[in-house]
Amino acid sequence: MNKKGLLIVVSGPSGAGKGTLCKALLAKHNNLTLSISATTRQPRRGERNRESYYFVSEKEFTEMIRQNDFLEWAKVYDNYYGTPKKPVLDMLNSGNDVLLEIDVQGALQVKKEFSDGVFIFIFPPSIEELKSRIKCRGTETPEAISKRIKSVYDELKYVYEYDYIVINDNIDKAVEELSAIITAEKCKTKRNCFNIDAIRREAR
Ligand code: 5GP
Repeated sequence: MNKKGLLIVVSGPSGAGKGTLCKALLAKHNNLTLSISATTRQPRRGERNRESYYFVSEKEFTEMIRQNDFLEWAKVYDNYYGTPKKPVLDMLNSGNDVLLEIDVQGALQVKKEFSDGVFIFIFPPSIEELKSRIKCRGTETPEAISKRIKSVYDELKYVYEYDYIVINDNIDKAVEELSAIITAEKCKTKRNCFNIDAIRREAR
């Protein structure tokens, strides 16, 4: 029997270091694939279409919503972001683990459909540290920076919807914690009972 993959959802404020942690996690787990989102945001320097995101127009995004192509979608800081449904379902059905790096609104939508998913919130060591990380990135305008800082407080309201919190104080330690979460989740009884049931049937 083919075991379904694990759906891992990672959220957290911008500047928490989600991108870096996800990259390190992907390098460590070869059964784990990152879902590539669609967005109406303009590409930043160094970002490549179909690698970082599918960069689409608002018209294309609206059409994808109409076609029911998204697992979830949300407006985040004036732009639309969405997770294309089919690749995620195909990967899970073929036994691959899938990582979604999405905002809180999107994670709540996914949770409704995939209560079996693993929901992880990444947070920096302090709010001061977070503010300085957002400012230091240098990729955003001052208005965008203050919008991102304000939204941190809004996002924190939903932290209790997540199964785990990982504090990104030290990258190696945070990646180790994320790996430990994946390992533990894979060992959960509910994800393995079909193996045990098969053995019990044999014994009869
Ligand atoms: P950025 O513009 O910095 O790449 O991403 C901004 C925010 O959008 C981040 O919090 C990121 O996690 C979130 N995001 C990226 N892709 C998706 C997606 O497909 N769906 C949702 N809901 N949020 C996303």
